[in-house]
This record gives sequence, structure tokens and C-alpha cells, in this order.
Amino acid sequence: MSGASAQGGGAAPGAAPPRAALWRIFGYARPHAALVAVSLGLSLAFGAALYARAYLVKPILDDVLLPQGAAVAAPQPSDWLRLLGGDSTARREQPAPAPPDPRRRADLERHVREGFARVVLAAAVVIFSLPLLQFGRVYASEHFLGRVYIDIQRHVCARLLALPLRFHHDHRRGDLLSRTLRDASSAHGALGLLFADFAPAVLTVGLGVALLFAISWQLALVALWLGPLLFTVVALFGTRIRRSARRRQEKYADVTQRLVEILSGIKVIKAFRAEPLEEAAFRRETRRLFRRTMSAVRQRVFARSLVEMLNNAVAIGLLILGSLLLLRGRWGLTLGDLAAFAAVLATTYKPVKDLAKASVGLLDAQPAAERLFELLDSPAEIEDAPDAVAIERVATGVRLRDVSFSYGREPVLRHVSFEVKAGQVVAIVGPTGSGKTTLTDLLLRFYDPVSGAIEIDGVDLRRIQRGSLRRQIAVVTQEPFLFDGTIRENIQYGRPEATEAETLAAAQAAHVDEFALRLPAGYDTQVGAGGARLSGGQRQRVAIARALLVDPAILIFDEATSALDSKSERYVQDAIEALLGGRTVFVIAHRLSTIRRADRIVVLENGVVTQLGTHAELVREGGLYRELLDLQAAPRPGSDLRLN
Ligand code: ADP
Repeated sequence: MSGASAQGGGAAPGAAPPRAALWRIFGYARPHAALVAVSLGLSLAFGAALYARAYLVKPILDDVLLPQGAAVAAPQPSDWLRLLGGDSTARREQPAPAPPDPRRRADLERHVREGFARVVLAAAVVIFSLPLLQFGRVYASEHFLGRVYIDIQRHVCARLLALPLRFHHDHRRGDLLSRTLRDASSAHGALGLLFADFAPAVLTVGLGVALLFAISWQLALVALWLGPLLFTVVALFGTRIRRSARRRQEKYADVTQRLVEILSGIKVIKAFRAEPLEEAAFRRETRRLFRRTMSAVRQRVFARSLVEMLNNAVAIGLLILGSLLLLRGRWGLTLGDLAAFAAVLATTYKPVKDLAKASVGLLDAQPAAERLFELLDSPAEIEDAPDAVAIERVATGVRLRDVSFSYGREPVLRHVSFEVKAGQVVAIVGPTGSGKTTLTDLLLRFYDPVSGAIEIDGVDLRRIQRGSLRRQIAVVTQEPFLFDGTIRENIQYGRPEATEAETLAAAQAAHVDEFALRLPAGYDTQVGAGGARLSGGQRQRVAIARALLVDPAILIFDEATSALDSKSERYVQDAIEALLGGRTVFVIAHRLSTIRRADRIVVLENGVVTQLGTHAELVREGGLYRELLDLQAAPRPGSDLRLN
């Protein structure tokens, strides 16, 4: 597992440079630019309304409360401040307030009344628009994010389907699942952070800063120190946050892999009473995951707390400075200015916090985006050559010419050459690991030979359109895989457009109706995940019906090694007969009856063809074929030989 995990962490060929990963995720927003613009516009309006609410404190103080105070000749707040500041000389030098002149007083009262009405009206507008803007902004951004999520998932699924078989063999399923589910959703989260948190916060903070400058540019200049400080903190923590986040994502893949193994091996686990063992192993993995998660959390929360502390310190410092300036009558500050400055500054607190949180969150999401793009950038199956041709049926036959192949360093097939005429059956026999399955995988062009060539009617497979090749070939594997659906759906899998009559004919020829018709729901019976509700023989017959319905020119048939009861065996054998007739067949054979029926037999040993001929010829020749037959010298009547 550790080896595979290292691989999970390593860059796949063609992986994006890490820094670009986030930008590429942001690229998913492009098709929804209009929606993003609406959402940002609403966010800006929402921010403006919040500031307006904060700013209202200035007209309340400067236009309503203070003039009102003057009108009733109460001591002015500036007097209070002077008293508080202990500036008694200033007070003494002030001329005594003149007794209020009745005309001025009436003017003042009208002014206050009008000011009050304006403030109330503005407050009403702000209060009613805030929830509407909030609703619009959240709805627009969620709508956009939801659509992007679907885009990403669709893209990932398409890529998983397009990736070559070799990729799927080389990667653990847990790692792939974790990349498609967790990493994709974390990377998508980064989009949320950018468009629902970061960008609105930048706009709102920008608006706030402009307003602070408008109220008192001097105070605002002092407050601006905060910005660079915050970014220093985020940058200092950046690398560590990213690294711990990457390690956490990899651990997620390990945990997912464990679950995949438990689910796919559940029968073996139960049969060997290994539940406690598996549970303990799973617990160990989750504990490791927990430790890594906590390490990532520590980095993130520490950075965020530091940002918050700085923010608070600056806010308190500004208030103290502002009060002192007001007391000394410097910078032309009014009490309303200071109060509005404090209120607006307090309003920027949340967006500034959002900004810091989103920056840290974006760093946290970067490794997920990288892992996602490693998957998305892995090269898909090789494209068809521009001059690739389509094949219809097989006219002359299939020829392997000096084919060699290896998965890694060790050669698996060496200089394999033989020919199968159209309509002939070739049986491939040989011990386990001799390369039989690999040979058929090359025919399907899951892989290309390292050297040599496979030709159909004289055309190299590499010059045949992949789609048309696979349309002409059907595969029946040893352990046929059925999808979770009905029997009918499974039969029609290779040709969903087949008519009911065609489907039933195929089912009949493969003896599926023998058991399907006895089931209460008939062909609409659900087979369960992987066909679990059918027996081995039944699954095989459904798989044969599926291949029959496709009516392929070439058939690859990996005969089951597991013994079936004799009745089931007879049905399967009949079904096989129906399938073999009139096609070019490659059968990985285990039963003597199948081998005898073959026109040619290819004996593979360690990737090399050691014998080639008919049954009679090979028996005469001796060698491995004869040895394999002799090993089974006394077959039970009615049963077949197991040749490996
Ligand atoms: P057979 O079908 O005769 O049992 P295979 O074609 O499955 O043999 O395997 C031939 C050899 O190739 C074996 O040594 C096996 O370990 C190796 N092999 C098969 N599949 C892979 C793979 N995906 N990656 C690496 N090696 C593989």
C-alpha cells in the first residue's frame, strides 16, 4: 500500500505544474461568467449596504444628536471630551456659550428634524435591501457553484472512461475514487472560496477602504498597515499549509482504498473470520488520517488566529489614536467621523477575516486541485491514426506476426506468431501466467505490442479505428461481470437498441430462458451488484447471450475454470456452441471438449509459443501439451480436463 501511495502522490505523466492547478480550476467558471458577474455585483451591493448602515452613525451624531444638543444648550460632547482629556486650560479659554438666539434655535430644530427624517429613511432603505441582496448574492453564487460541480464531475467521469486499461491497472481504486470524489469536491470548494468568499471580500474591503479614506485619509493610512501584515502571515504559513493538506488528501486515498477492499472482499473476510483484523486495520488508517487532518487544521487555524489577533490589535490601536486626535482637535476630525470610522472599520472586519480565511483555504485546496488535474491530464487511450480504417467483418483472418509485449521490464509475450482463418476456432492453452489473457488484451487493443504486429485481413490493428475494432469483437470472460440492473439490461448492454425479439432469441440460444422464465420477474429480475443474485453458470449464460446479441465477427472467450454441476454445465456448453458457430474465435480453453473442437491449438509457455497444431498433431508431438493431458490421465466421466 505504501508503494502505491507514493505513486498516488507522484505526478502522473503530463501533470500540470502545481501552481497552475488553482488557475485551471478557476477556468471552470468561464462558461458561467454572466452568473459570476451577477453574484459579484450583488455582493458589492450587499457590502455597500452594510457600509451605509455603519456610516449612518455619522449623520446621527453630526446632523442630529450634536446639533440637537447645541439647540438645547446642553454641554457639547466636545466639552465632555475636553474634560476627559483633562485639558482644563482649553476649557477656560473657551468663551462662555452665548444664550441661544430663538431664531437660530428654530432653524437648528428644523435642521435636526430634517436630518432625523433623512437618517430614518436611509436606515429603512438599508434595512429592507440588506436581506434581499443577501438572498440574491447567495442564490446566484450557489447556482453557479452547483453547475460547475456538475461540469467537474462530468469531466472526471469522462476521463476515467477514456483512460487506457493500463492506467486503471496501475492505480489503486481507492486512490481513483478519492480523487474523483474528495479531491474534486475540495477543488470545487476552491471555486466557492474564490467566487463566494475571496472576490466579494476583496470588493467589500476595497469599498470599505475607500470609505475610510473619505472619512479620514490620515486615519485610513494608519489602518492600511494591516494589509501587508496579513499577507505576510498568509505567505509565511502558505507552504506548510499546502504540504500538510497534500499529505492529508493522500491519506484519504488510503482510507478509501481500505473501504474498497473490504467491500469487494467481504465474502473472503467473513469466511476467514477476518472482521476484527480488517476493522483494526481500518481503525489504524483512520487514526493516521486523523493525525494528518489535525496537523493540517493546526496550521490553518493558527494562521487564521494570528490574522484575527492582528486585526483586533489594529482596530483597538486606531480607536485609541482617533480618540487622542479628537481630544487634541487635530486632522479636523468630528465625533461623527470617528464613530463612523470605527463603525466602518468594524464592518470591514468580517470581509477582512473572510479574505484571510479564503486565502488560507485556497492554499489548503491547492493540493486537491493538483491531484485532480494529475488524473484529468493523464493521457487517454491513443487516438486513432488519421488514416485509420473501419472494419466490417473478417474476410480472411487474424494474424499475429512476431508479437512481443511487456508490462514493465519482464517480457510477457515473446515473438508470438500464428494465424487464424476467418471462421476458425483457435484454442490457447498454457499454464497460469503464461500470457494467455495478455494475448487477448492485445487483440482488443487494450495495449499495443512492443514489437511485431497483429493484423486483421492484413491490416495492422493500429491502423483500424478502435471503435470499429471493438464493435467486431465480443468478450466473454471467466468471471463475467454483470451490472446492477435487470437480466434484460445486462443482455442488451452491448446493443441497447436491439429489439425485444432479438434479445429473446439471444437469451434462448444461450439458455438464459431456462432459468429466467422461472423467476417471478422473468427478464426484469434484478441481478444485484456484480450479478450476485445469479449462480456462476447463470451469470455465464447471461454473458454469452450478451455476446450473441452483439453478433461479433471475432469472439474472445475465456472459459470458466470453476466446475459447474452437470446440468448447468450442459446448458453452458450448448450456449457456447451457439456462440462459437461461424465466428473467428480465440478461446482460452480449460476443457478438453472445447480444445478438441478447436481448429488449431496454440500452446503458450512463459510467453513463447512452444507448440502449434491440431489436437491429434499435438498429442503425437509430445511436449507440454501431452504432459498436461497425462497429468489428467484419469478424468472423471462427464467432467472435462483442467489444463491449468
Ligand atoms: P494467463 O492469462 O496465462 O494466466 P496473463 O496474461 O494474465 O497470463 O499474465 C502473464 C504475465 O503478465 C504474468 O506474469 C502476470 O503477472 C503479468 N501481468 C498480467 N497483467 C499484468 C499487469 N496489468 N501489469 C503487470 N503485469 C501483468
